[in-house]
Amino acid sequence: MEVVKTITEVRSLVKSAREQGKTIGLVPTMGALHVGHISLIERSVRDGCFTVVSIFVNPTQFTPGEDFEKYPRSLNTDLKICKDNKVDLVFVPTAEEVYGKEMLTWVNVEKLTEPLCGKFRPGHFRGVTTICAKLFNIVIPDVAYFGQKDAQQAIVIKKMVADLNMPLEIIACPTVREPNGLAVSSRNQYLSPDERKDAACLYNALQRCEQMAKSGITHTPQLIAEMRKIIEAAPTVKQIDYIEIVDTHSLQPLEKITDKALLALAVKIGATRLIDNILIDTTS
Ligand code: AMP
Repeated sequence: MEVVKTITEVRSLVKSAREQGKTIGLVPTMGALHVGHISLIERSVRDGCFTVVSIFVNPTQFTPGEDFEKYPRSLNTDLKICKDNKVDLVFVPTAEEVYGKEMLTWVNVEKLTEPLCGKFRPGHFRGVTTICAKLFNIVIPDVAYFGQKDAQQAIVIKKMVADLNMPLEIIACPTVREPNGLAVSSRNQYLSPDERKDAACLYNALQRCEQMAKSGITHTPQLIAEMRKIIEAAPTVKQIDYIEIVDTHSLQPLEKITDKALLALAVKIGATRLIDNILIDTTS
């Protein structure tokens, strides 16, 4: 496994792999790697890719007042995880390597970035799409792997790739969860034991909603009220940013579930903002 810091080195190593006939798979991450990230790496390795993992805590996707400074950083453990999971190349750039001295060009996907997290994290998705576009241009992967855990992010990136004719495939992989249902996240490290226990209410609420929708209750205000009730019952829940039931393509709110829907929520447990979602299909 090679570990490099510069764009020139990445390009040269990827070029050799491609010349050997290999397919290039990219797993973009912000580090603090966990079983969720590992599932993406495993998928890339299983698909036979020359697997590139980028580790970069991207400053432009944090909004003012968010946790950029204290975001968990654990490079040595991350590199061991990459090595143990058969990663071929790890790209660990500095902010200057990625953004240079003056960035005047940004990639922004309209509409899809306005609802859900877009309402609460202005500029977040612009930072995400810009860094992903840059990583796609630096690595030039055939495939990039993202987690369904960040459902809106995966949808926004797919749209960027389609709209800008970027020559790669985006694969969204299932959310990996802890035994109590909590979606694994680097930010779970911030939770106290009580908060971690309470955080199970997010997945419980999503599952309850799916169950109700499948039993024929399809009017979304009633379903959202039920999810809210379950979440508000957890003592350490501080604030609900949103609980929404939206169309899986447009991300616009649905009045009624007719077949597919994305149930998505963002909730502050103590001081930690957690997101979760599930895709449901009431016809299957
Ligand atoms: P991050 O390091 O949080 O930016 O995440 C890097 C990638 O890992 C993103 O595509 C995330 O959606 C994905 N990811 C994070 N947590 C999980 C999880 N619990 N299950 C599956 N994928 C995940």
